[in-house]
Amino acid sequence: MKDLIPQNGLFSQPVLCYDNLGDVVSNTTLSFHYGKHLKAYFDNLNKMLPGSGLEGLNLSEVVKKSEGGIFNNAGQVLNHIMYFAQFSNAPKAMSDTFKSMLEKNFGSVEDFKKEFEQKGVTLFGSGWVWLSADSDNNLVITQQKNAENPVTMNLRPLLTFDVWEHAYYLDFQNRRADYLAALWQFVDWAEVESRL
Ligand code: MN
Repeated sequence: MKDLIPQNGLFSQPVLCYDNLGDVVSNTTLSFHYGKHLKAYFDNLNKMLPGSGLEGLNLSEVVKKSEGGIFNNAGQVLNHIMYFAQFSNAPKAMSDTFKSMLEKNFGSVEDFKKEFEQKGVTLFGSGWVWLSADSDNNLVITQQKNAENPVTMNLRPLLTFDVWEHAYYLDFQNRRADYLAALWQFVDWAEVESRL
């Protein structure tokens, strides 16, 4: 997993490499989601870190070692940079090796996608659905509430879909299932697999 390293004690928001993902994640959604929601998480985190004893740590270490407000903002920064980095308008296909891993753990790629979407649809309230690998490279799907990230459970997070309403409401309103089903076409599997 690419981690964020602070510069002079502060985390900087990366530049986003696309303006929209078809009409699934519109430019309007991105302007709020990336430009306002995520920016606020960065700003809050950078305000809270000085004097916390966590300054200077990489982002994933801050997430593992914090609680309360710092955890909420650091977790949301980590979740969002992983979410936005895994999509592309020219996504790379899944490797045969990763396909075999999904087949071993879920039966088929389609069964994996079905279960992932189902766990996203049934997550009550705000949160994230994740695909992660454990220390034996078994793949697991988890539902995480609010700012939670699988790194706190000693898992390696690979792929995530954001099911906070701010992620889809402007483009899909209440149709969370349609948003989740439409995201697969933009998943860059080279990026996902690089997190193994
Ligand atoms: Mn979000």
